[in-house]
Amino acid sequence: MSGEKYIIALDQGTTSSRSVLIDREGHMVDFVQRPFQQIFPHPGWVEHNPQDILFSQLGSLTELITKHGLTGKDIDSIGIDNQRETTIVWDPTTGSPVSNAIVWQCRRTAPIIDELCGTPEVRKMVQDKTGLLPDAYFSASKIRWILDNVPGARKRAEAGELLFGTVDTWLVWVLTGGLVHATDVTNASRTMLYNIHEGCWDKDLLDLFGIPESMMPEVRRSSGPFGETSYPGIPAGIPIMGVAGDQQAALFGQCCFEPGQAKNTYGTGCFMLLHTGREARRSEHSLVTTIVASPPDVEETEYALEGSVFVAGALIQWLRDELGIIQHASDTEWMAQSVEDTGGVYIVPAFTGLGAPWWKPDARGAIVGLTRGTTRNHIARAALEALAYQIRDLSDAMAADAGKPIKVLNVDGGASANDFLMQFQADILGCELRRPQNTETTSLGAAYLAGLATGFWSGTDELRALRETDDRFFRRMDPERADELLAGWHDAVRRVM
Ligand code: ADP
Repeated sequence: MSGEKYIIALDQGTTSSRSVLIDREGHMVDFVQRPFQQIFPHPGWVEHNPQDILFSQLGSLTELITKHGLTGKDIDSIGIDNQRETTIVWDPTTGSPVSNAIVWQCRRTAPIIDELCGTPEVRKMVQDKTGLLPDAYFSASKIRWILDNVPGARKRAEAGELLFGTVDTWLVWVLTGGLVHATDVTNASRTMLYNIHEGCWDKDLLDLFGIPESMMPEVRRSSGPFGETSYPGIPAGIPIMGVAGDQQAALFGQCCFEPGQAKNTYGTGCFMLLHTGREARRSEHSLVTTIVASPPDVEETEYALEGSVFVAGALIQWLRDELGIIQHASDTEWMAQSVEDTGGVYIVPAFTGLGAPWWKPDARGAIVGLTRGTTRNHIARAALEALAYQIRDLSDAMAADAGKPIKVLNVDGGASANDFLMQFQADILGCELRRPQNTETTSLGAAYLAGLATGFWSGTDELRALRETDDRFFRRMDPERADELLAGWHDAVRRVM
């Protein structure tokens, strides 16, 4: 046994790139993080320079390697997790991108979606094939925009001279010295061009968006070979053995390998995924169906239902930065605990509309139930409770689509550190919450995918055993009281709609 070996996870996020060193016990030994520039050329537009993404990622990798005096022999393999949907088009002969990356948050292509997916028939076709509800968020319309707006791009693409990739594909292509043009099934499932049932780029959708198939990467399983490093300044020959989009990597890092297992990440927004096994459940509640990362011994494609909450930790930031009633996000915990309840106050944080299951993009936020006795502690508590109510609504929608309730919710993300929030969440959900000691589940998931493929870890049983004792939260609240609170929340939601 080579006890000294490590896996490196390249955790390529929306605002920073990190390289994370992970040992055989699944511990995060160290990491190096490099932020990079966010580019906002017009209101609603968001871009990254693909070279910034690359150099922040490679910079963090070389710093980590140098800091620990690692050679290629010390590194078992590399796993990659990445911001999803963000779109890059480049010329493989020069290695130069034809434009900045269009970031998942960018809304510039909404008119393309309206134009191409405006009819109920097309919307249904897109949902049937991809599991997604047509939106500018996914890669398809972003590629189309580049081909329509970058001079000469369409012609070059049609001549087979340009490649498309999400960020994982771009990193793999550069790291392998231009040898491998591939993505994994999870990232493919977020492009809105991949047929998640047939497991291929969909000809009808490529036609609909006018995208030549020659641009599209080969689609591989998430746990398995993606080539070897061949890039100046990085030890040569390290195998890249795992790739997954960030949310699917987090699901894997939470050891949710089986149908019925779910995770929620409490970050700026929330992302919740429920593993549904080999069954691609179609949502009736504005959720999407997506492909999960599976262990290498699972042959069949496996799926999840995914839903998000737009404003979660962002509401806590708002209390701090706009209202100025807290200094640190963590202050909300003692403030919430210092009062018995919110005194009837509810905050509906529909800053950018209401997401699933309500789907009212035009709704705007509200604080209701204010009295002369309302203090900032009540407001702080109402903010945390609002996070929990939104997750309850999402969880109900998922359970309805999946046909069974969620029994355990695995949690991670910055705000999962808040014990008041976790207890209240368990009270409102009426199910068990499990918070792992290591809440860096995204990098862990990427590392697990790589390490299972090389045999660094023997299988998912070993990974489950590595997971240290979780913090667990169970319902302590009287169910009638929980229903009463929830009814108050729904009343507040109705008022903003
Ligand atoms: P992201 O990955 O989306 O940037 P993180 O997972 O780093 O987010 O979580 C940061 C978010 O969590 C911030 O919006 C912050 O306000 C919130 N947050 C962090 N710590 C706490 C806490 N103890 N209580 C409540 N919210 C918190």
